[in-house]
Amino acid sequence: MEDDKELTAHDRISNFGERVLAGGQITRDEAAWLFSLESAADIFDLIAWANRIRERFKGNKIHLCSIVNAKAGNCSENCSFCAQSSYHQTGSPKYVFVDPEPVLEAADEANKNGVTAVGLVAAWKGLNEGPLLDEVCDRIRELKDSGKTRPDASLGIIKSQKVADRLKEAGLECYGHNLESSRRFFPNTCTTHTYEDRLETIGYLKKAGIKICSGGIIGMGETREDRCDLAFSLKEIGANVVPINILNPIPGTPFEKNPPLPPLEILKTIACFRFILPRREIMIAGGRTVNLRDAQSMVFAAGASALMVGNYLTTLNQSVERDLQMLKDLGLDPSWDNHGFSDQEAGGCGCAEPACETNDLVTTGVPDCSA
Ligand code: SF4
Repeated sequence: MEDDKELTAHDRISNFGERVLAGGQITRDEAAWLFSLESAADIFDLIAWANRIRERFKGNKIHLCSIVNAKAGNCSENCSFCAQSSYHQTGSPKYVFVDPEPVLEAADEANKNGVTAVGLVAAWKGLNEGPLLDEVCDRIRELKDSGKTRPDASLGIIKSQKVADRLKEAGLECYGHNLESSRRFFPNTCTTHTYEDRLETIGYLKKAGIKICSGGIIGMGETREDRCDLAFSLKEIGANVVPINILNPIPGTPFEKNPPLPPLEILKTIACFRFILPRREIMIAGGRTVNLRDAQSMVFAAGASALMVGNYLTTLNQSVERDLQMLKDLGLDPSWDNHGFSDQEAGGCGCAEPACETNDLVTTGVPDCSA
């Protein structure tokens, strides 16, 4: 067989693209080579293939999500990127868990704009059994009963199956829990909980039958190898939705002086994720407006199939109206049926492989689905 290392970059990218379009996969080494591309010509070549892969597996649908910050600030954790950690002096808002009104207002707003899901987000380490869990379940139930949106949540570390089962019973459909970066880089982002705590939480949620929204943040000082490893870890855990956040350095946090990633590096990262995760929702979340500026509409050409709209916790996005206009101008369709998971139903892990049987995930560790 021809040694593909003899091929030009253009031919090699095309070979990988053809393989993924045909339902195949690229290896970890092949993906690392894509992440290492430097020239603008090669990156645009990669983006063109990522766009074809997105169209092949996701059509022209773009899944929109929004979030409501249900408890802000004073978080016990020391995540280096986060304005809400009690370890950092950032001046970001602080309030206790919210009453129903702001959550229902967010549902109204989402419904008005055709946004698929509203996620309840709380700045705390995690959720245990007790009165607070009862209150959280009430908010989820109210969101579901409103009939206006898919009820999602991002509520930190979960340490028991019972908590995950209660959330499912309340009507929760999807839980946001990022791996943040590679296992190797994770201790640079947080030392008050571990990568294993996060995997364990995802295991409980999957066992409860809750879909997983898990991705990370780029631009924290991690290497391209770390980004590549993150994408493969997300593939292994069977994340249904993969949010890519781009660091927006917040004054007062340890990452406040991190240099911004160049827009082409960001677009290349999105394209590489599309090659590795051809069927998953790849969502562009925090940091897109400040980091991509005029290039932000290119995220879809680079392979993104979902967008976080509205403001993102402590930072601002462009308006929802501008986002909707951007999609219209590109001929993309933000309307969704089946709650945004329409092509991921075959496999329990969301891999869309008919034979996949990872519904029965263990509560710890990583499932072995590699589809
Ligand atoms: S990212 Fe979440 S867990 Fe970490 S400090 Fe911020 S609010 Fe707390």
